[in-house]
Amino acid sequence: MATVPWVDELAHRLTDANAKGRRRQTHVRSGAQGVRIVLDSRSYLSFCSNDYLGLASHPDITQAFIDAAKVSGVGSGAAHLLTGHSDHHHALEQSLAEFVGSEKVLLFSSGYAANMGVIDALMQRGDAIIEDKLNHASLLDGARMSDADLLRYPHGDMARLHHRLHNAAAKRKMIVTDSLFSMDGDMANLPDIMALAIEHRAAVLVDDAHGIGVLGAQGAGSVSHWDLPASHRPIVMGTFGKAFGTAGAFIAADAVVIDTLIQQARTFIYTTAQPAAVAAATCASLKLVQTEDWRRDKLHSLIEQFRTGAAVAGLNLMPSDTPIQPILIGDEKSALAIGETLQASGILVGVIRPPTVPEGSARLRVTLSAAHEPADIDQLLVALAVACD
Ligand SMILES: *Cc1c(COP(=O)(O)O)cnc(C)c1O
Repeated sequence: MATVPWVDELAHRLTDANAKGRRRQTHVRSGAQGVRIVLDSRSYLSFCSNDYLGLASHPDITQAFIDAAKVSGVGSGAAHLLTGHSDHHHALEQSLAEFVGSEKVLLFSSGYAANMGVIDALMQRGDAIIEDKLNHASLLDGARMSDADLLRYPHGDMARLHHRLHNAAAKRKMIVTDSLFSMDGDMANLPDIMALAIEHRAAVLVDDAHGIGVLGAQGAGSVSHWDLPASHRPIVMGTFGKAFGTAGAFIAADAVVIDTLIQQARTFIYTTAQPAAVAAATCASLKLVQTEDWRRDKLHSLIEQFRTGAAVAGLNLMPSDTPIQPILIGDEKSALAIGETLQASGILVGVIRPPTVPEGSARLRVTLSAAHEPADIDQLLVALAVACD
């Protein structure tokens, strides 16, 4: 038996979630990630991946992975601090530092691990971590892991952030925010946040999971998008699982911060390095991200096409000019029903419900990719107009 003595309680909760239509479950995808996918043996036009630039199954990236695996094998076999840190990891860190314009970069095995590691390593009991209410779960978990005080401010509310900073007695303060919010598609105002941070001597950590590759010159991310001066930049976390189309993550910061993470970040120290071939694949991806501006240009024209069409159809768009385009429905059951109607017509969109978003703000979450074609957007708009009617 591999269970727990309170299994009846677990089963009861699952039944309950099922009755409310809130039971989460995985679906099986066959073949590559992309805009046309096969899920549970059915084909769909998909608007629910984070493959914003359409790189997840790019042949150059796959080839770089294969070539590196032939030389390095698959398993990295050890943590970075032992013998797991390959020449591919090293090269990726160097290229990324140049790409985002930071002194140093440190790789982590996932964005979740990077966020936990950086917050835990830099903050301690008695310090204050001040987070936007809509921050990603990993940023909240990092704060919990650190034992510092966690304070939150209403989404994007700079006056309340100011208030929090002003009232916090802690000697060390850190403001933590997503750059581009994953459920709303809007952006944090980084210039305002940096100004408040300077005024209150606070550090800033920006989670650029959805911004890196998508925003800024050559896709260098939100620091570039907001044109933040080199003298006052946040610590940045970037991931490779989204626009980069591979896997893993990094922290970019000054050398002293990165060296501290190497000593202190438990999620860096006590975990196996990602396979060298994944780092090699990410190096290939970085080249495409930097050089193929047409992917971002196309993405933006698709976003515009979608928003114009959705407004004409009377859909309740949210203020986002990013590839994350939520459509506010409100009622949870209606959102579910619309999602099911779309799925029956061969289109997949995310249906986001409480507790992921506040009660009464259930929504469809459409994510766009440079791999979509204008005709795909038209097909989605027609289906949405019917399903939401
Ligand atoms: C996806 C995501 C992460 C986690 O990154 P992984 O590499 O998938 O673990 C962290 N923060 C935000 C905002 C994300 O969307």
